[in-house]
Amino acid sequence: MLLEDAKTILGQLQNAILLDQIEEVSEASRICPDCDEVRAIHDYRSRVLDTLFGRFQVKAPRIRRCACDAKSDDVLGGPLSPLAHFFPDRSTPELQRLQAELGARHSFREAARILETFLPCAKQVNTSVRNRLGKVSREICDSEQTEPVVPSATEEASALTVFLDGAHIRCRPEYQKRHLDVVVGKIESHDKCRRFGLVQQAVLSPASQLRQDLRALGWDHKQTVTVISDGEPALPNLVRVAVGGKVRHILDWWHISMRIQHVENAVAARISAGSG
Ligand SMILES: [Zn+2]
Repeated sequence: MLLEDAKTILGQLQNAILLDQIEEVSEASRICPDCDEVRAIHDYRSRVLDTLFGRFQVKAPRIRRCACDAKSDDVLGGPLSPLAHFFPDRSTPELQRLQAELGARHSFREAARILETFLPCAKQVNTSVRNRLGKVSREICDSEQTEPVVPSATEEASALTVFLDGAHIRCRPEYQKRHLDVVVGKIESHDKCRRFGLVQQAVLSPASQLRQDLRALGWDHKQTVTVISDGEPALPNLVRVAVGGKVRHILDWWHISMRIQHVENAVAARISAGSG
């Protein structure tokens, strides 16, 4: 079987199972939890549901509230939608989890490509993967905040992150130097943020200036410092010298995707020039 055949079969199978399960859920949801009477169906709404194995249009029933509900002080509310409970965000939890996991492991564009390559899911784009990852991570943060503070969380809180970017700026001809190396960045702790900028040639020691900035944010020579920058080795090295030891370096995807964008644009320009 080819991958495309498998995807088609999976999609058809998912459609049949999904419709069957929705019917089952809808019937079961009609039973009033308070008095066991069967509640009437108000109407059906057309809903689009996203799953790992495809996007499907389904008929979602809305159920009338039971008359026994009126005994409470509340005014009788609108109809209930049982599917909203099973499909928050109109998608399956498994799809949400995989979008978030691949989005965390790869660039958002690559995560979307992997999902589409192997699964008959609906078309994926980098922004939808990014938004999903953001939403899932916020939910994880919210659920973790209700738990008591554990030692590892306090350790994490004291860690510092340095975001760095650099540029060569050409000097005017009357200056003796040919160019200046400018470094701009931001240091973040769990509750504070400090921005800085320096010209490598202008300050006596760029590392000691950076060390001062780190100290201002409570750095005590022991905490882990994470550096997020492009592939230029001078930038994480600057932080290494400043902290006098190891740093954790993370390559930021934005810089990589910008490079690929240049290539894509160049190829697109050649193709349109060739056809024109
Ligand atoms: Zn009832």
